[in-house]
Amino acid sequence: MSHTSQISLTFPDGARRDYAAGVTAGEVAASIAPGLAKKAISATVNGAHYDLQWPIHADASIAIHTLADDAQALELIRHDLAHIMARAVQEIWPDVKVTIGPVRDYGWFYDFDRKEPFSPEDLGAIESKMKQIINARDPVRTETWDRARAIAYYEERGEPFKVELINRIPEGEDLRMYWHGAWQDLCRGPHLQHTGQVPADAFKLTHVAGAYWLGDSTRPMLQRIYGLAFKNRDDLKAHQTMLEEAAKRDHRKLGREMELFHLQEEAPGMVFWHPNGWQIYRNLEDFMRGRLRSAGYKEIKTPQVVDRVLWEKSGHWEAYRENMFIVEVDEDGGKEKRINALKPMNCPCHVQVFNQGIKSYRDLPLRLAEFGSCHRYESSGSMHGLMRVRGFTQDDAHIFCTEDQIESECAGFIALLSGVYRDLGFEKFDIKLSTRPEVRVGSDEVWDKAESALKGAIEHLGLPYQVNPGDGAFYGPKLDFKLTDAIGREWQCGTFQCDFNLPVRLGAEYVGEDGAKHHPVMLHRAVLGSFERFIGILIENYAGKLPFWLAPRQVVVAAIVSDADAYVHEVVNALKKAGVRAEADTRNEKINYKVREHSLGKVPVLLAVGMKEVADRSVSIRRLGDQVNDMMTLDDAISTLGFEALPPAA
Ligand SMILES: [Zn+2]
Ligand SMILES: [Zn+2]
Repeated sequence: MSHTSQISLTFPDGARRDYAAGVTAGEVAASIAPGLAKKAISATVNGAHYDLQWPIHADASIAIHTLADDAQALELIRHDLAHIMARAVQEIWPDVKVTIGPVRDYGWFYDFDRKEPFSPEDLGAIESKMKQIINARDPVRTETWDRARAIAYYEERGEPFKVELINRIPEGEDLRMYWHGAWQDLCRGPHLQHTGQVPADAFKLTHVAGAYWLGDSTRPMLQRIYGLAFKNRDDLKAHQTMLEEAAKRDHRKLGREMELFHLQEEAPGMVFWHPNGWQIYRNLEDFMRGRLRSAGYKEIKTPQVVDRVLWEKSGHWEAYRENMFIVEVDEDGGKEKRINALKPMNCPCHVQVFNQGIKSYRDLPLRLAEFGSCHRYESSGSMHGLMRVRGFTQDDAHIFCTEDQIESECAGFIALLSGVYRDLGFEKFDIKLSTRPEVRVGSDEVWDKAESALKGAIEHLGLPYQVNPGDGAFYGPKLDFKLTDAIGREWQCGTFQCDFNLPVRLGAEYVGEDGAKHHPVMLHRAVLGSFERFIGILIENYAGKLPFWLAPRQVVVAAIVSDADAYVHEVVNALKKAGVRAEADTRNEKINYKVREHSLGKVPVLLAVGMKEVADRSVSIRRLGDQVNDMMTLDDAISTLGFEALPPAA
C-alpha cells in the first residue's frame, strides 16, 4: 500500500510548492517568510476557511490571510472574542454554565446560564477581564477528540449544555476542542493564533437579553450578552455613532411623533395606519403606479383568501405551510368545511390570470403588477415596527416571457428600479447575482441562458455586481438589490427572480411561433419589496424630514395675530387648489410655539402671516431646519409650492 507523502499547494499567484502531507497552513506561512508566519491569522484552503493549526492532507489551493483581509480578520476577531468573553465570565463566576456563542453582523453574542441577571456593572467587569486575557497573549490551540472523551470531560465539569450539543452532532463527525489559554470550548473553529491578535480597544459589550436554549420556549431561558467588534477603535466608534444616529431616527419613535401609525397586541405585526402615515403610503403607491404604467405593466388585483387546493398545486402548502394563516369556513351551513389560506405571495394568483384564455407569443412579454396584500406568520420575537411585519403589501409583478426576452426584461427592470431609488433619495445600490444551486429544476441549457441574460443585462448597463455562486433559488437564478441609506446602512429591497418551475406546475402555456405549446418563463420582481418596510426605511433615511412631495403634511399656514385669520384661510384654500396639502393654524398661541410644534411634527413648510403680510398679500416662508424666513408674494408661494408638490417625473 502506498501513501502520498508529498502534496502540492497552489498559491493565489499561481505558484506551486510541495510539502509533506499533513503540513499546517501555519508551517506553510513560515516556509514563505518568518514575518508572514507572525502576521498570519488563517488560510483559505480549497475555498474553506482554515485554522493555521489544521493539517492539509492533499493537493489544494491555498491563500494565507493576515489582519489586512477584512472578511477573515473580522470573523476571527469576533469569534475569538466570543471565547474570550465566555472565559472571562467563568473566571469571574465559575458556576455559570456556557452554551453557544456565534459571530453575527458587527460582533458576536454568547448565551450563559446564570440565575442572577448580568448588570451593566457586570458587563464592565467582564470587559476588563477580557482586556487582561487579550494582553496576556495566551496561545490558542486545538485538538480533535472522540465523543466519549468529550462527553466525559463536560459531564465532569458540570456543563450539561455542552453535553447536549455533543449529542446533537452527527455520529462519526470529529469533535474539535479549542483552548484560549487554559480555558476550553467545543468549537468548529478556525481561530486566531493567540489572544493578543484581537485588538483590545476595538470591542464593546452592548447589552444583555433573554434567549431560550436552542430557541425553544419550553427550554431554559438563558442570558445572551451581545458584543460589537471591529479591527480598530475608529471603526468601532464610527459604528457606535451610526447606532446612536439610527436610534434618533427610529421609525417607531418618529412614527409616534409624526402620528403615522401604531401597532397593538390584537393584531401583531399588522399596521394601523393613521391619516398622516396613510398619506405617505398613498403618495408612494401613486408614484409607483405611475412608474409601472410608463414601464408597460398592467395592474391587476387578486383574492386574499384562496383555497388550499391552489396552494397544494403551487407547492406552498408543502413547503411554506407553517408561515401561512389558515382560514376555515363552513360552506353551505356547515355541510362542508373548506380550508383556505391568506395568500403569503401573489405568484400563484397571477398565473391564474395568465391562464385565462389562450396566450400566444405575441402576448409576451406580459407584465402583470399588483400591490399585493400578503400575510406571513413571523414569530413574535422577530417582528420589528414596520421593518418586519405579518401583514404587508408588496409592489409585486410577474413578467411572463420567453427565454429570449429575459435579458431585455431584466435591463428594463433595472432601469425602472434605479430611477425609483434615485427619485426616492437613494443614489447607491448594490447588485448580487445568485446562480444555480446543486438541487434545481430546469435543464442546464435554460440555466446557462438565464444566467447569461442576467449578467448581460447588468453588464450592458455598466453596473458593478457581485456573484454568489450556488445561491440561486431551486427554480431559477436571481438578482438582489441592496440600497444604502443616509447613515450607511444597507437594506435589501429589490429582487428579480427567474422561475422555470411555477409555470410548469400551474400549467401556464402559450402558443409559440412554431404553433406548438410552450411554458413561459416567469419573472418575479419587486422594487420596494414591501410598502410597509420601505416606508420605515424612508422615515429613517430622512430622519422624518421627507421630501416635500412625499410629506403627509406639507404646509401649515399660521396666524401671527388673530386679525390675520381670514387671510390664513384664503392662503390655505389657494394652496389646496394648487394640489398642496395645507392646513391652517389659527390657535391663540405665540408664533414661536407654533414653529416649534410643527417642526417636531416634521412639517416641511410653515407660512407665517401677520398684518403686514395681509396688507402686502405676501407670506413669510420658513422651511424645516432653516433658521430664517423668506418673504414671498402669495402668488409666487403658491406656484413654487404647487410645483414642489408634484412627484418627480420619470
Ligand atoms: Zn468557537
Ligand atoms: Zn412571485
